[in-house]
Amino acid sequence: MSTSGDRHLGPDPAGLLPSAAAGDGHVTVVAEPAFAATFAGQALLRMLVDLLARQFSVLERVELDVPRLPAISRATGAVAGEDLETALLRVGSAAGGSEISVTRAGSTAEHVIFVGPGSPSRAGALSTISAVANSWLATISDDPVAAQVDLDELPFGPHLAAAIASDRLFRGLHGVGVTGTSHIELLAAPELAIIRERLSGFRLPPCYVIGLGAVGAAFLLTLGATGIPATVVGLDPDDSDTTSRNRLLSMGYEQVGIPKPQLAAVLVKGTELDFYPNEVAWPAYYGDPDRRRPKYLAAQEAKYRYEWVISAVDKNLHRRNIANILPLHVLSGATNGFVAQAAYMAMVGDCECLACNHPVPSFDLDATRDGLASVGAEERVAQLRAMGASDADVVAIETYLDDPACGAIGEATLRRLGVDGGVDWAVGFVSAASGALLAAQFVRAAILGAESGTSVGAERRLIFWGTPELIDSLARRRTSCPVCGDVERQQAFATRWDGL
Ligand SMILES: [Zn+2]
Repeated sequence: MSTSGDRHLGPDPAGLLPSAAAGDGHVTVVAEPAFAATFAGQALLRMLVDLLARQFSVLERVELDVPRLPAISRATGAVAGEDLETALLRVGSAAGGSEISVTRAGSTAEHVIFVGPGSPSRAGALSTISAVANSWLATISDDPVAAQVDLDELPFGPHLAAAIASDRLFRGLHGVGVTGTSHIELLAAPELAIIRERLSGFRLPPCYVIGLGAVGAAFLLTLGATGIPATVVGLDPDDSDTTSRNRLLSMGYEQVGIPKPQLAAVLVKGTELDFYPNEVAWPAYYGDPDRRRPKYLAAQEAKYRYEWVISAVDKNLHRRNIANILPLHVLSGATNGFVAQAAYMAMVGDCECLACNHPVPSFDLDATRDGLASVGAEERVAQLRAMGASDADVVAIETYLDDPACGAIGEATLRRLGVDGGVDWAVGFVSAASGALLAAQFVRAAILGAESGTSVGAERRLIFWGTPELIDSLARRRTSCPVCGDVERQQAFATRWDGL
């Protein structure tokens, strides 16, 4: 049995998937010619094919029915001279590897995802989903969708549409029929007018992306496709593994065991992002003499001034570490089962900080050791696996349980797994949605001002329950927060950012 789909197989945390998918689903992506010729159409198709080709042990085959058209490289990552179909086949095959075949369409189709407005030119024997988007809008429905004019050629709406269409198929193959229309609007009309006016010649402020896993990579893919120039310092100490395949968009199927910063650097190559990869965790970064970043940030870093931080870490301990360095602005991307989130967080304003509602779990070594020792060998291995233990970790921990006096490595391993927590359920389209929302929020906040992120509610969530919709909510600052609720930390923050 392949491990590629491990993270999205089995029960999700909210218990939304009543049964396992059959595992041999076929889908045909059909592109409407006029829409497929546009930036929005190609950005949607590129993300959709990538996400479908990562539904391991759910889908077996992805087929493409797309017209012969030149590929737009900013939308698809196509190399010079590549046509759209070739570019999409390459993206899909790299993701699906030997497990999901991505080919040109045959004559029959079980499930169809029709990318474009109007009545689908082909229907699936079992289901038909329509998806249309423009820069800031996404509409997905089981009915035909009207065309949307696109003036900005940005990937936010298209990438969200791809994630939502991918979800409909995924849940459908699990026997959960999703009906109705998802209509996602990322900007209010007055905001759109101002952003449109300022986009030309705009450069984003430099940012630090902390965590280059599924959410961080999706953020970079979407941000890179905007064509807006920016300097990005990226950090992550981890390597890809086989269970990353289902959602790490920077990773091809065969690219196992490669540092995530290296994969991210390849992902954004050829875009307007000036990317600096660092194979370290956040607290180690600012003490690392070999850290990579542009020279002009050195003076700010010497004062511990990190103006824009994109948090794409998945553990509360790491979130706390980011909050502790008192960044001026934080945008936090996260997933929880079927919920994608992008939130603005700061020490001041109508929002929370990254430490407010992210308690750091405590770990009791003795209790964990006694618990593991009290069950049979098979159950113990299952429990360790659920904590995220590798083969080598299991051996080290067994040695430690046999004789605590000579199992220092096993003890350290158990502490690490205990603090980091278990392996969470995760699926590619939720991470992709979080990354796309995060990139949209960054561009919006950089142009309209950080306070714009709190004007409609600091937290944005796309919830893949029922018919997915975007929900904005006001965050609650916690008065007992160890960072923003602490008077000394507030003073340190005011001093650090004085004059800005
Ligand atoms: Zn706080």
